[in-house]
Amino acid sequence: MVKKKIALIGNPNVGKSTLFNQLTGMHQHTGNWSGKTVGVAVGTYKDLEIYDLPGTYSLIPHSKEEEITSDFIINQDYDLALIICDATILERNLNLVLQTLEVTNNVILCLNMMDEVEKYGFKIDIEKLSRILHIKVVSMSAKRKEGIDDLITAINTFNSQKSFQVNYDDVIEDSINYLLPFVNSRFEAVKNIINLKSDNSKINDQLKIISSHFLSNNIKPLELVMNAIYRKCEDITNLVITKTKKFNRHKKIDKILTNKITGIPIMILMLMAILYISIQGANYPSDLLFNFFMWLKNIMNDFLLNICIPKCIVSLLIDGVYQVLTWVIAVMLPPMAIFFPLFTLLEDLGILPRIAFNLDGYFQKSNACGKQALTMCMGFGCNAVGVTNARIIDSPRERLLAILTNSFIPCNGRFPSLIAIISMFFVVKSNIFNSIINVLILTLGILLSIIITFIVNKILSITILRGMPSFFVLELPPYRKPQILKIILRSIFDRTLFVLGRAIIVAIPAGIIIWLCANIYINDSNIINIVSNFLNPFAKFIGLDGTILFAFILGFPANEIVIPIIMMSYLSTSTIIDVGNLSVMNDVLINNGWNIVTAICVIIFILFHFPCSTTMLTIKKETGSFKWTILSFILPLVIGIILCFIVSHIL
Ligand code: GDP
Repeated sequence: MVKKKIALIGNPNVGKSTLFNQLTGMHQHTGNWSGKTVGVAVGTYKDLEIYDLPGTYSLIPHSKEEEITSDFIINQDYDLALIICDATILERNLNLVLQTLEVTNNVILCLNMMDEVEKYGFKIDIEKLSRILHIKVVSMSAKRKEGIDDLITAINTFNSQKSFQVNYDDVIEDSINYLLPFVNSRFEAVKNIINLKSDNSKINDQLKIISSHFLSNNIKPLELVMNAIYRKCEDITNLVITKTKKFNRHKKIDKILTNKITGIPIMILMLMAILYISIQGANYPSDLLFNFFMWLKNIMNDFLLNICIPKCIVSLLIDGVYQVLTWVIAVMLPPMAIFFPLFTLLEDLGILPRIAFNLDGYFQKSNACGKQALTMCMGFGCNAVGVTNARIIDSPRERLLAILTNSFIPCNGRFPSLIAIISMFFVVKSNIFNSIINVLILTLGILLSIIITFIVNKILSITILRGMPSFFVLELPPYRKPQILKIILRSIFDRTLFVLGRAIIVAIPAGIIIWLCANIYINDSNIINIVSNFLNPFAKFIGLDGTILFAFILGFPANEIVIPIIMMSYLSTSTIIDVGNLSVMNDVLINNGWNIVTAICVIIFILFHFPCSTTMLTIKKETGSFKWTILSFILPLVIGIILCFIVSHIL
């Protein structure tokens, strides 16, 4: 039996793979983000042979994957094209539908995600849509397996349909009619007119004439064609959609959150609020954990000595490994356990895509992708998580930009050090506004990180990562009621424990190395002193000192141990210590030559040095390349050195 050949097409992330799996039973991964369906998967369902084509926004391709789909629809033989649309963003999805209808009438439109439409606050008149487009329209929810039987019936009873076409401006219509005798479809003519070139040698002469006419009259064919299609999509959507109160409410919120004037200040306020809650809220559980670990430390120390383990081994295990490990846990765990759920809450509410939307223009200007804003937001929690999340960016070039610049965003591990220094040097009196000023200065630091990210994006985009931003439409999902249990589980298991696990792995060797550096003496000086003295001339040159610089190097496994190592070195103790009181710390630092310029330089260096070892490991894993891993190390370091040099020589 000859099988019916069915092409499955649609924008990325509309549920094609989900439907394909439902129909063919072939196991394929379906994820949450666009564009992972690459290549053509083929499956069978009874007498149907189904081609799952890569997601595309348009038949005028912008990438290799889009080219596969465009070529298939325009040049291959198939019986039916099933266009899957996300019904919640019908207007945007109709663009591909209208383009496909220029190529073939053998189309069935599947309006997927119908289960979500109500949440967005509108209704779609399916019958009317079908009448306007002259095609069969099936309402479905692939995820819930609803409407699949209707789809099969529609395929099996399919009859030829009347053609539908977009009416373009006269100049385009005239050009189409001029080319039509030589090409297979109206759309092929449109495509050639847009590109003003063709593989079809028969129409080269005609295209030359059209091209010179366009040029002499300053006609931009792409603009004219796309405007006509967008206008038609808008008209159709207005005819078939009825909006409810909920829709208008969402629109009102969007007007504020994505407004040019209010959008960014609200985002900054939200960021400050999250930082404030994470920092303030972490203090108490951090103290509790510190005290618990201290209590356990004494018990373990006595126990190990009692079972006759040599004193130096006990010191290595307890003062080295245990101390660094528990320090990292006590400092890192509480803010992460607060930050990640808050962050996931924003994600679940649908606010994060709005942040990306607000910043999209800036990212486009720096030749990067708006989704980088999301990976940067993740970076506030942990740069390793930010780097892993760069997978949501489809273009490899833009993904690399996001990976290489993620560590410019200070993570939770760096906040305690930043806050300690800001509190010691910039907040003169301790009063109720203390922590607000803290967060304000911290926010300024973060704004500097974001500006540097844009600048570096741009520089990389015109040098080693040359290219223009890819065509990509940011989708604004509806605001949803958050699912608290899901948020807690996801933020604890996917994020907090993941980061903590990696941090613990690196904290153990770090504990050993730090202990050895503090306890091995050569000519009355321990290794920390020797190396610090060696580094001192260069460090002074950039406004730091050798001890600070060596603390950053020893803090490579986890940023949160940098300040404790500095204190340990200045106070000549044999293990990292919690001085506890900020004013005592302040005295120690000032006695060791710190002033306001040193503090600013240290803040800059905390923001821009090298990524921690966990992040480096993740970058290597994600890029699979030593070259990019090394560059991700060098980039922030060079920026940090240059900024510190400038600040220390100007102030
Ligand atoms: P593709 O990129 O077009 O292949 O899209 P996928 O099949 O990977 O689906 C993208 C996301 O949409 C996944 O998270 C699916 O679970 C989800 N999805 C698919 N169909 C539906 C649906 O009918 N309703 C809802 N709510 N979600 C769906």
